[in-house]
Amino acid sequence: MTLPSIPLAGVIGNPIAHSKSPVLHGHWLKTYDIAGHYVPLEVEADALGDVLKAMPKMGFVGCNVTIPHKERVMQFVDQITDRATLIGAVNTLIFLNDGSILGDNTDGYGFIENLRQGAPEWDASAGPAVVLGAGGAARAVVASLLDAGAPEILLTNRTRVRADKLREDFGARVKVVEWVQAGNILEEGATLVNTTSLGMTGKSELRVPMDGLRKETVVTDLVYTPLTTNFLRTANEIGCVTVDGLGMLLHQAVPGFERWFGRRPVVDDETRRVVLG
Ligand code: NAP
Repeated sequence: MTLPSIPLAGVIGNPIAHSKSPVLHGHWLKTYDIAGHYVPLEVEADALGDVLKAMPKMGFVGCNVTIPHKERVMQFVDQITDRATLIGAVNTLIFLNDGSILGDNTDGYGFIENLRQGAPEWDASAGPAVVLGAGGAARAVVASLLDAGAPEILLTNRTRVRADKLREDFGARVKVVEWVQAGNILEEGATLVNTTSLGMTGKSELRVPMDGLRKETVVTDLVYTPLTTNFLRTANEIGCVTVDGLGMLLHQAVPGFERWFGRRPVVDDETRRVVLG
């Protein structure tokens, strides 16, 4: 008798010990009673190609990719989804039956789904979005906000050239504003997003003056340690609907899990509780 093969998936990064993905996927595997495993894989940059070649032969059906390999991994995939091409990074790999590798990026999807779940009344097309920061995560945020119908993105970043590059890549609906002016544009946003790492445990605080923020603005922070950043706390005090960043991490994992294990997982309070430990 041949036993059915047990699908394997995992997350490739370096370092990887801090990753919450194994706990998240492990929880879903258990919840849906799926015979599969999801493991953390610490991989050096120069071993990435060899590791990806070997994984399908070892029973892996796909994997997530995280820092620092999200851009470099693109050279090892055979097909890339449009959204991953636009974002310029891949965070989800699917090992197809014909031996080829499909690369996708689900960060923007996770960002939008988190807002939809946390602020059901939120509508991207209600007005401009103000985006603080222009790093890797900001690319996914800008791409997905434009796709969801935001009429304009007011983008500001400490290092101006990074914001200019996003404008170049995403077009005229993106308007770049000087970092020192950040406080002055908050009142224009129907949506306000912090994509900088400021406010994260161990980092400096985000010091953008928030007095101009209107209570109608939906505010979200990509930082999720702490869960309630000072940025979100201030927005809350002003009366804004706020959405923390943990949900983005949880929702971005949904498409990969569904492709690998054949079941679409639900992000609910129990998922949050398990991942928060
Ligand atoms: P990144 O590429 O390194 O970008 C960091 C961003 O923070 C840049 O815009 C950078 O501005 C800005 N920044 C850093 N220190 C600053 C300072 N002292 N003053 C002003 N700006 C500063 O990182 P990333 O991958 O985009 O990630 C950004 C944050 O999002 C991290 O906290 C990450 O954990 C979080 N994140 C969360 C999720 C989620 O699922 N919730 C997903 C992805 C990322 P410069 O360009 O001027 O350096």
